[in-house]
Amino acid sequence: MGDIVFWTIMRTAVVIPAVWILRSYIDSQQIWWLICFMSIYGIIIHPAIIHYKLFEQKNKDIIESTLCSSCKHFDKTAVLCMKHDKHPSMEFLPCEGIDWEPGYNQVDSDVKGNYSD
Ligand code: SF4
Repeated sequence: MGDIVFWTIMRTAVVIPAVWILRSYIDSQQIWWLICFMSIYGIIIHPAIIHYKLFEQKNKDIIESTLCSSCKHFDKTAVLCMKHDKHPSMEFLPCEGIDWEPGYNQVDSDVKGNYSD
């Protein structure tokens, strides 16, 4: 996730000055605005969306079907164990299950389960 943010910022840092410089070479203000919007979407926003979808797809199993996915220390947006500051994987749990604590979703489903009994 950090890579996605970093490269989005880098692309922004390149595109904004580039379109600003391009402004002096284009006579029509409307065409310049069109190029601006197309550049911002095509070079900054669209690649960020694509990379985020690939990130989600790549980490889907870790987010949905590891012990960490039900732990309160797990940050799904970064696929990070916040207690150990490490990224779990399908083969690696930073705490090996010792520090697992029920997450908010787990507590909710337990509470709902008790009401339905
Ligand atoms: S404490 Fe253990 S179970 Fe919980 S997120 Fe970290 S590594 Fe996973």
